[in-house]
Amino acid sequence: MAIDVQAVRRKLEAERAQLLARSIPPPETARGDEADLAAMAQAKEQSQWLEQDQKKRLAQIDQALARIAAGTYGICDHCGKPIPPERMEAKPYATLCVDCQSKLEKKRK
Ligand SMILES: [Zn+2]
Repeated sequence: MAIDVQAVRRKLEAERAQLLARSIPPPETARGDEADLAAMAQAKEQSQWLEQDQKKRLAQIDQALARIAAGTYGICDHCGKPIPPERMEAKPYATLCVDCQSKLEKKRK
């Protein structure tokens, strides 16, 4: 069974839109008095961990979308073999097959 990349792309784009909708406006667009700015700074601090997570996920989504556009989605970055659809289903952002991933993880240890 082949991967339905169009379905994956739609899913990723929806996820991306959702992430972007949740993101807070950048501080440089802020207009207001000091109290507003202080509240904004606090809110920014609180959401910083979330922002980090969001950026990471956005980057993963962008990468996956770029791979779909390039026609390399579901192809292992390391050995060039197709990654089994079950793995792509479980890990939509995977760029390596199980073999290469485990080899890489062993090397890191
Ligand atoms: Zn591989």
